[in-house]
Parts: sequence; C-alpha cells; structure tokens
Amino acid sequence: MRAYAFLLLFLAQALAFPRLGLHEGYTRLVFDLSPSATYQIAQTPDTLTLRFSGVAAAASDTDVGSPQVASYQVVPGANGATVFVRLKPNVEVKTSLLTDADRRRLVVDVLSVAPVPAPKPAVAATVPRPRPQPIVVVLDPGHGGVDPGAVGFVVEKEVTLDLALRVRSLLQARGLEVILTRGRDTHLSPDKATDLGMRAEMAHSKRNLFVSIHVNSAPNVAQGIETYYFGHTIDPSLLAQVIRENGGGELGQRLTREAQSVAERLVRDLIAQSNLRFSRLLAQQVQGALLEATGAVDRGVRQAPFYVLRNARIPAILVEVGFANHPVEGRRLQTSEYRQALAEGLARGILRFLSNGGALAPALP
Ligand SMILES: [Zn+2]
Repeated sequence: MRAYAFLLLFLAQALAFPRLGLHEGYTRLVFDLSPSATYQIAQTPDTLTLRFSGVAAAASDTDVGSPQVASYQVVPGANGATVFVRLKPNVEVKTSLLTDADRRRLVVDVLSVAPVPAPKPAVAATVPRPRPQPIVVVLDPGHGGVDPGAVGFVVEKEVTLDLALRVRSLLQARGLEVILTRGRDTHLSPDKATDLGMRAEMAHSKRNLFVSIHVNSAPNVAQGIETYYFGHTIDPSLLAQVIRENGGGELGQRLTREAQSVAERLVRDLIAQSNLRFSRLLAQQVQGALLEATGAVDRGVRQAPFYVLRNARIPAILVEVGFANHPVEGRRLQTSEYRQALAEGLARGILRFLSNGGALAPALP
C-alpha cells in the first residue's frame, strides 16, 4: 500500500507541468518538453510569461509562497499552454535548456538578489515642485449604492466602505488629511463609466496619493491579497478580473480597452513612468504591510489597466484585500477583528511609503 502511494506521488511529480523545487536562495521550475515543443519567454518586473507550443498541460493556479515566487498559473491554449509565474521583488531569472537522449527540459531558476534601493528623493529633486502640506490621502471605497461589487460571504461595497472609514481614523490620528470618494453607501453616478471617472478625477495633483479598495471574487477557490498599479497586461485571467472591476460586461470590456491603450501610450512617457515608479513603491509597501498584519496569502504586486487608475496625477494603487467567495477568507472578512487588521496594514503601508520618499513624489501637471 505504501509502495502504491509512493508510486502515485512519484507519478504526480513526474507528470506535473512544471515540476517545482524549493531550494536555499532559489526556486526552480522544470518544464519537461517533447522534442518538437517550442517556447518563448517574456518578463516584466512582476511576471515571467512562458508560451509553449506542442505541449499538453492541465489548467492550474498554484500558490508557491517561496521567497522568490508567489504563484504560477497554467493556462492551456489551442496548441500549447501559457504559464504565468508571479515573481516577488528582488529576484533574477535564469533559464537553461537541458537535452539528453530523447529528454528535453527547460529549467527556470528564480534567484534572490540584493534589493534594489527604493527611489530616493534624488528622483524627486529633478522636479522642483514642493508637495502640499499637510499630506492629503484619497481613499476610494470601491462600488457603492446601486453597485454592490462582489457578493459572497460579504458584500464588497460594505467591506470597502468600512475599511476606508477605519483607515481614515488611523491616518487622521497621525496628522494626515484624508478624503474619501464616498463616505456612505452611495454611488457617485448610476452610470458606471461616469462613476469611475469621478473617482479617478479625485487623484489630482493637489493630493499626495490615491488608494482604491476592493474585494475580489473568483470562480475557483482563490484566496489572498494583491495590490495593483496601473499598466498594460496580456494575462487573460487578470483581464477577466479587470473587466469585472471596470464595470463588467460590454461596458467593462470597453473601459478596459480604453485603459489598455492609455497604458500603452504611457510606456513612452518618461514623466508618467516616474509617477508609476512611485505607484509601484506604494503598492509594494501596502502589500507588504497588509501581509504582515493579516498573514494572508501573497498574490503579489502587479500591473493592470484599471480604469479608475488610468489618469492619476499622483501615486495610485488598487488593493484587492481578499476573496468574498472563499469559504475561509470570505468569513474572515465578515469579522471586525480581521477588518481592523486590514485597516492597520493599509495605514502602515501608506505611512511607510510616505516616510520612504513617497511624501516627496512629484505630482504630474
Ligand atoms: Zn471591486
């Protein structure tokens, strides 16, 4: 019986795509390939994307949680599969193709490297624009009124408002000025595009930073926290989520296309890129502080074309604090204790950003 179980385990490992190995200082992903299989690799700071042709792989979404890799996702396609590897900060990727007899293996090692220093005031010093005093934080509780957002064990619009009110208290106690896009259960406009546009306009240059708060939902049993800053994505699973947050259906698709084309334009805009670097720093600080405060699963810092972030003139992020429909996390989100932990994490992340150069982040004109 034990031998049988061992054999099953061996087979499961042998058939896994990729095979995963956790080592001191690095995480290894091994992809077994047929002689005819081909692949392409692309990398952004947060995601390594591998496109395979001529392989058969089952869909999966796997939390790794190593110091180098948050998770990986396998998305089967017509004649192959795409694998998205979510990288943690401060890693380097090395790949090698090993061939012996009729075996081919693509070995991807994700190694820890020394942290890149955070953007220092030196970046801001090139733009001699003093920032307003006191510091003004804009908090955007997602959805509201006619739009409940995600519904599961909790209703998204209720959780986001409660969290924003808690974070406001914590930040006001530290001397910051806080503006909410909504302070009660209301929409800003019954038309979702107008509603998101009005929220986005509050991220203007007289303020210091913008945090949009959301609760996630997923058809599978995903859980954990993820933080976004604005940018382009080709990740299909991410786009489905972005379309939902951008209003869903036809409207969500249209607003997502608009936001994607803004993101493509920003790639060549150096001033916008400088603001995005501060947004990324804000996202990293908030994500780190939220994980410390809650012990939740780390789904990483990513870029995506959220409509509400597209015109921000100041560092701006969107936080998904957990999954409304996850049987454990959804129920945790019901409790006052967990919401307070989330609020403290959000507030701490914002304060850390401000004290790490974020208070000097220049606003776009
Ligand atoms: Zn939402």
